[in-house]
Amino acid sequence: GLQQVDELKSAPRDSETTPFNGGSLSIEGLRLSYGQMEVLRGIDLSVPKGSVTCIIGPSGSGKSTLLRSLNRLVEMNAGSVLLDGVDIATMKPEKLRSKVGMVFQHFNLFPDHTARDNIMLSLTKIKGMRRGKARAIADARLADVGLQGRGDHRPANLSGGQQQRVAIARALAMDPEVVLFDEVTSALDPELVKGVLDLMADLGRRGMTMVVVTHEMGFARQVADQIVFMDEGKIVESGTPEQMFTAPRTDRLKKFFAEVL
Ligand code: ADP
Ligand code: MG
Repeated sequence: GLQQVDELKSAPRDSETTPFNGGSLSIEGLRLSYGQMEVLRGIDLSVPKGSVTCIIGPSGSGKSTLLRSLNRLVEMNAGSVLLDGVDIATMKPEKLRSKVGMVFQHFNLFPDHTARDNIMLSLTKIKGMRRGKARAIADARLADVGLQGRGDHRPANLSGGQQQRVAIARALAMDPEVVLFDEVTSALDPELVKGVLDLMADLGRRGMTMVVVTHEMGFARQVADQIVFMDEGKIVESGTPEQMFTAPRTDRLKKFFAEVL
């Protein structure tokens, strides 16, 4: 709720000494169809370096598809996406996915591997890193997300919130330019939501470029630099949290807020 995230921007944090050097995204004319159905119908969006962009909108409006197109888990039909000025269509998918990390609602951790191994696997398989170095990075990122000492735990022996923090640590371990978050707190028990939102707010303060699909309006209002409202495959309205929450311009956004707030 709104109250619980009031302190997000001022919460103490122990990892603030490590700033990120995030990248920018520039999306132009992005269109994407599944078969005959066009689900992204011309998206233009600029995501500045080091900013937090929250994407809100009703179910089925294309939010997940937009995120997935940004690291080419689905291929767009038209338009372009530039990552730090480089067209992602020219990048190898593995390279792109190490630069544009993604965290999902259902964590997607390997259940038979420990937290540490889940992180090390990406580093050794995708980046070709030696195990010793990968292990050191995995432990450092686990500490960053407040899970020092939990490296030997398997996902089943961690809470949902802890599992999600492992997934975030895994994305960070790749040293990404941008991290995409798709409703990462939606599957968590209510009491575990705040810890994950606090962590995400911390990453934003440290300069990570983040694109966050969320139903947490309090988080969007407190943490976002810009909010994007999508409906039916289009960006209907975007602006600062202040603009969007205090003076929505379109009837569709007013109606959406009336339903979710
Ligand atoms: P949101 O994340 O905003 O709920 P999605 O991007 O998941 O929206 O979905 C947008 C539209 O695309 C919906 O109508 C959904 O049913 C459809 N869709 C999503 N994924 C697929 C897919 N893999 N194949 C066909 N249709 C899909
Ligand atoms: Mg979705």
